[in-house]
Amino acid sequence: MELFINLAYIAAAILFIYGIKMLGSATTAVRGNRTSSLGMLIAVVATLSRSGLDYSWIIGGLALGGLLGFVAAKRVQMTGMPELVALFNGFGGLASLLVGWAEYEKVKVHGWDTSLAGEWFSAAVIAIAVLIGGITCTGSIIAWLKLSGKMGGAAIVFPGQKVLNALVMLVLVGAGVAFAIGATGASAATMFYVVVGLSLLIGVLAVIPIGGGDMPVVIALLNSFSGLAAAAAGFVINNTVLVVAGCLVGASGLILSAIMCKAMNRTLGNVLFGGFGAAGGGSGKAVEGEMKAISVEDAYFVLEAAQSVVFVPGYGMAVAQAQHVVKELGAILERNGAEVRFGIHPVAGRMPGHMNVLLAEADVPYEQLCEMDAVNAVMPSVDVAIVIGANDVVNPAAVDDEDSPIYGMPIINVFEAKTVFVLKRGQGAGFSGLVNTLFFRDNTRMLYGDAKATVSGLVGQFED
Ligand code: NDP
Repeated sequence: MELFINLAYIAAAILFIYGIKMLGSATTAVRGNRTSSLGMLIAVVATLSRSGLDYSWIIGGLALGGLLGFVAAKRVQMTGMPELVALFNGFGGLASLLVGWAEYEKVKVHGWDTSLAGEWFSAAVIAIAVLIGGITCTGSIIAWLKLSGKMGGAAIVFPGQKVLNALVMLVLVGAGVAFAIGATGASAATMFYVVVGLSLLIGVLAVIPIGGGDMPVVIALLNSFSGLAAAAAGFVINNTVLVVAGCLVGASGLILSAIMCKAMNRTLGNVLFGGFGAAGGGSGKAVEGEMKAISVEDAYFVLEAAQSVVFVPGYGMAVAQAQHVVKELGAILERNGAEVRFGIHPVAGRMPGHMNVLLAEADVPYEQLCEMDAVNAVMPSVDVAIVIGANDVVNPAAVDDEDSPIYGMPIINVFEAKTVFVLKRGQGAGFSGLVNTLFFRDNTRMLYGDAKATVSGLVGQFED
């Protein structure tokens, strides 16, 4: 039986790796998802076929967790997806913390003495599972509160914050080490509860100073942490497939965090400790000029004559759920003889890949999706760039205003196109709260209104 389980775990690990590889391309991503799911099914069946399990608890947990997950995933709006991801990361962390805690309670019954029993490794992995799990749990809850608007999105900073965080971290690691290498009886219990309490506290302290445009990195990083916490839990209960799956999530989350940092021209250290978006931060130069509005009818005449059009979607497209009608307009422009592309910024929207998901849902042809560098290379020859509910990711202050907090962040250079249409409801700022100098440029025209209604209006003009 043990041999069968281990073989099943190897098969599951291979399917996970192939599945993740397939996620690298939009054409194979759906198959990749199914391949990894099959791997997980095999892993779960193999684990449940172990002897000596109490199925009543397992079935109860599966039913309750499955029901909650099903209802949450069914009810979530596309715009609420990042919050849901944040919350699910948090649950992953909490699960690992509880696995570590349960193992401690189990061993404690027989008397806890790591120095005598020489079981420092088991104790260390329990402490690590609790530590990473606790940070992930409360850190993700703060990220969820910030993203869902239940708490202000700006960075919360106060004097001495870094020193406080460093001190808490020092005590936490010290208690973890003491617990692992020689605490006995009551002192082991004290050390253990200190690790539980402080890891939950440091999750809150670490995420509150992060805000504004840095949120995508936090989500990717917490996702990575939830994987590492699962890997530690895998060591705690001696389950190889959990270690493998946890390491895969941990590594891919870290790579994603690095890609996100690059897309925002920031280092990970700067994101975590920089306090971007805190009240009182620099807001760049004052802007001169005024925003010029255009009507749907006049915009239609410009588009009708365009030979090359680039759509740049952002968070507002998700809010308006405009992806289907945007695809329709793209098809009409193509039939009208224009070359149509979609320029995708890596942090457009509220989660990594947000725009790709929306455009794939609307069946926009993959060959029309261009990455930032590719679309920037052709931008000066583009007749019309249509910005659909994007703001920060097209803000030229990132290129030409050294005083701007987003200076240096790579953007989609729509300002280089001959004409730019910006579709948004009013004069509100983007996620970072910064004024967008694009809106004041001579070649920019503002098309005010809900993006779906505006694009439907343009489609209507072409059809008349
Ligand atoms: P922004 O958040 O900068 O701007 C969104 C724009 O959409 C606003 O200007 C808003 O203007 C407009 N809008 C909102 N609703 C509608 C609607 N119904 N119709 C038309 N327009 C609408 O979006 P971007 O995608 O440009 O930038 C993403 C930002 O989010 C970046 O700062 C990024 O760092 C951050 N972020 C990204 C994450 C990711 O992983 N991708 C995660 C978390 C944050 P108005 O209100 O006037 O309509």
